Amino acid sequence: MKHEILAHCHNIVESYLSISKNVTSEFPIILETQQRIQETKTIFLERILPFWNPVMNNISMSYNGGKDCQVLLIIYLACVYELFRDRYNLQQMYLDCFQINGVYIKQYETFQILEKFVEKSAQYYDLNMYTTQVGQNMKDSLREYLDHLHLKDYNQTSELETARGSHLDGIAKTALGQVKSRDVQHEVLNDHHGVIIGIRRSDPYALNLKDIQRTDADWPCFTRLQPLLEWKLQNVWSFLLFANEPFCKLYELGYTSIGGIKTTLKNPKLYKKDNKNLWNHFHWEMEQAYVSETERPFLEVYNQDDEMVQSDMDHDLVCNDNSYYPGWYLLSDEHERDGRI
Ligand code: FAD
Repeated sequence: MKHEILAHCHNIVESYLSISKNVTSEFPIILETQQRIQETKTIFLERILPFWNPVMNNISMSYNGGKDCQVLLIIYLACVYELFRDRYNLQQMYLDCFQINGVYIKQYETFQILEKFVEKSAQYYDLNMYTTQVGQNMKDSLREYLDHLHLKDYNQTSELETARGSHLDGIAKTALGQVKSRDVQHEVLNDHHGVIIGIRRSDPYALNLKDIQRTDADWPCFTRLQPLLEWKLQNVWSFLLFANEPFCKLYELGYTSIGGIKTTLKNPKLYKKDNKNLWNHFHWEMEQAYVSETERPFLEVYNQDDEMVQSDMDHDLVCNDNSYYPGWYLLSDEHERDGRI
C-alpha cells in the first residue's frame, strides 16, 4: 500500500476537521459535516478496524465510483493511516504487506464515464480491485466475490456457525471486551468478511439499517459495514468539494444519483429553465479547497488519456450541455434520486 495516498487522505480529513470556528459559525453545514466525519472516524477506529482490517485481509470496500463511496473511501484510508501510525509506526515493511480490497459490481449498461472513473480512481487510491462479471444481479455478483476470496457463504448452507474468535489478536480481544453492542460482538466472533458500503439513511430501504450488521438471510453472507448512514447530501458535497479530489464528471452535468444508463437522467430539479434561483452553497469549500503540500504523482493516472470523456454514447451527455446546474446545487436528500427512473 502506498504510504503517500494514505497520508494524503489523512491530510484532507484533518484539514477539513481543522476548519476554524469563525468559519463554521458562518457555515453551519461545515460544522455539521465535521461532526459526521468525527462519528464516521470513531466507527472505523473503535468498532471496525480493531476487528476487520486490511492486514488481516478480512475487509473490502464496495466501490462504484459514486460520491458517497468516494467520501467514505477517503475517510477509510485516513483511518487506516492512523491505525498504521499508532500500531506500526508507519513502517514501509508493514505497508508493503497489504493493499486495500475493493469490489465493483459490474452491471449491464452503465455509463462508460463512470466505469472509467472506477478504474482510474481505484488506481489512484491504490485499491486491489475485483470487478465481477457482467450480467448478474447484485446477490450473485457478491457470491462471485465470496468465491473469489475463497470464503464460504454461510447463508447458503445449513451449517451452524460457531463462535470462534481465534482470528483475533491481543489488541482486538481487548477492544472486543469494550464493545457493548451484542450485534457487533456476534459479527466479530463469527469472523465474517466485512464489506464497507457507502449507503446513507435517505437511500431506499436504509431507514432501519445499522452501521454494523450481517447481510439479510437471502443475501450472501458478509458483515455490512455502513459508517456513512447518518450523512446528508449536503455533508457529502461539502466534504468532497473541499477535498479537491477528482470525482465522477457526471455530477458536474446535473446528475445527482447514478444508476444504469437507461434508468438515470439528469435531475429535473436542476434544470435551469425551471429552477431559476438555485445557487452554489459550497463556495467557501471550493475557494478554500484542500491543496496538497507535496506533489501528487498519482494524479497522473487521470491524465493518461482522454477516454473518460470521449469513449461512447456518453459523449453527447458530456459536451456542450450547460442547461443543468451541477449536482451539488441540490441540497435536498428527498429529491436526490429524482433523476432515477
Ligand atoms: P448507491 O446509493 O449508488 O449505492 C450505495 C452504496 O452501495 C455505494 O456507495 C457502494 O458502496 C455500494 N454499491 C452500489 N452499487 C455498487 C456497485 N455496482 N459496485 C460496488 N458497490 C456498489 N440489500 C439488502 O436488502 N440486504 C442485504 O443484506 C444487502 N447486502 C448488501 C451487501 C453489499 C456488500 C452491498 C454492496 C449491497 C448490499 N445490499 C443489500 C444492497 C444495498 O443495500 C443497496 O441497495 C445497494 O448498495 C444499491 O444501493 P443504491 O441503489 O442506493 O446505490
